[in-house]
Amino acid sequence: MTNSVPTIALNDGHTIPQLGFGVFKVEPTETTRIVSDALEVGYRHIDTAAIYGNEEGVGKALATSGIDRSELFITTKLWNDDQGTQSALDAFDASLEKLGLDYVDLYLIHWPTPAKDRYVESWKTLAQIRESGRARSIGVSNFLVPHLERIISETDVVPAVNQIELHPAGQQAEVAAFSRQHGMQIEAWGPLGQGKYPLLEEPVVTAAAEAHGKTPAQVVIRWHLQSGNIVFPKSNRRERMAENFDVFDFELSNTELATITALERGGRVGSHPNEVN
Ligand code: NAD
Repeated sequence: MTNSVPTIALNDGHTIPQLGFGVFKVEPTETTRIVSDALEVGYRHIDTAAIYGNEEGVGKALATSGIDRSELFITTKLWNDDQGTQSALDAFDASLEKLGLDYVDLYLIHWPTPAKDRYVESWKTLAQIRESGRARSIGVSNFLVPHLERIISETDVVPAVNQIELHPAGQQAEVAAFSRQHGMQIEAWGPLGQGKYPLLEEPVVTAAAEAHGKTPAQVVIRWHLQSGNIVFPKSNRRERMAENFDVFDFELSNTELATITALERGGRVGSHPNEVN
């Protein structure tokens, strides 16, 4: 089953599995069990962050899995309070140590935190970390167009990805289009809307689910994949991990894709990037 996950080429020559497993709000004490389950189900791409407090648990699951490092794709993120130069280098070292790894596949600036105005400096630090080989790829998260324009014009280093909140009711079309035009891949966080609005009960979603003999969550994940998004839905429950991974035996029609895209209503389930500092 693992081999059925497509990979997406990044602008730095590396590739990323398009479907992974996210661990936001996974309790540190439960993380090893949950990530071990995800790896057994077949996931090879794990998305964590320093602020989630569970990098150690992720690392333990990786270490005990017996899976070759080259088959894994591990992302973590620089927290807002650690933006800067030395503070970011230290935070990166701490993350690597907690993960028990000697490199991560992808390191992201978690939020631009514009009021701090340290994201350009932080971006230069991430470029330095990439140069050292300890992060294969670097990117950003929650960056809006002005933030992207600024780091690109001031450093000439284009992020490999922009990880943004993206689900049918809130697709951030402008930032997604700008990112793609400049060669960044889009990672969609909260791909199922974090369960905060009844996305899985939308008639267009349930109709497509019925038509294909799949579940509404599988339809939404499929909408992301066919839209070119990288996704890592989260669930603590193994049966849902398996459900969310079992999305490669059907295809939504162009009409189904369009009706789901039409659910856009400018809705966010998380914070506005300009307000997180
Ligand atoms: P999500 O959209 O993946 O929703 C997760 C919730 O959806 C689960 O808690 C569960 O209640 C429900 N769910 C999962 N599978 C289901 C199924 N098959 N059927 C019914 N309900 C199901 O939200 P998320 O976890 O916030 O986002 C995914 C990942 O994105 C995170 O784990 C994290 O790695 C990342 N993320 C990043 C940021 C950021 O600022 N960069 C913010 C939030 C999340």
